[in-house]
Amino acid sequence: MKNMYNWYVCKLDIHCESEVEGVMDITNRCFGENYLCREEITEEYECGVVKLPTGKICGFVLYKGKETVEKPGFGVGFIKTIAVDTLCRKMGIATDLLKYAQEELNKMGFQYSYAILWDRNEKLVSGIFAAQGYAPTQVLKYHWHNQNCIHCGPNACKCDGIIYKHISQRTIPIL
Ligand SMILES: [Zn+2]
Repeated sequence: MKNMYNWYVCKLDIHCESEVEGVMDITNRCFGENYLCREEITEEYECGVVKLPTGKICGFVLYKGKETVEKPGFGVGFIKTIAVDTLCRKMGIATDLLKYAQEELNKMGFQYSYAILWDRNEKLVSGIFAAQGYAPTQVLKYHWHNQNCIHCGPNACKCDGIIYKHISQRTIPIL
């Protein structure tokens, strides 16, 4: 995945300390300390990163395939988080991260995917999801109830989550 700025998307090398640190730096700055822990990045989820030619990481996406609760045996892709460093925004990086995660989920056999957008961030990222065929379907009140939140404070989140489903699977139950 090349582009005019020469950044590219690839899989995080979980054995490379500087790469893992690069992702931790971005999540701590974008969402607050401890929003994501190291194990979520290296073990629980798959992680794609955007690298500049210098090797510096300037964005990442976390995703995984999971079975639905309402429809056992049916798997969907879940896009957990997309984050881009402040200085590297408005360059199409988030779009490429979303496309990358979808392609990887497709390869893993997950045809459909969804994401839960942070209500305070929705305006910033809804266009990116909409352009890839996602649409809002449901609001989850206090979705991150009492978790750490850069807006609400430590263990005090009262923000809502908004489910964005890929258009082709809007009628499929996922939660
Ligand atoms: Zn909050």
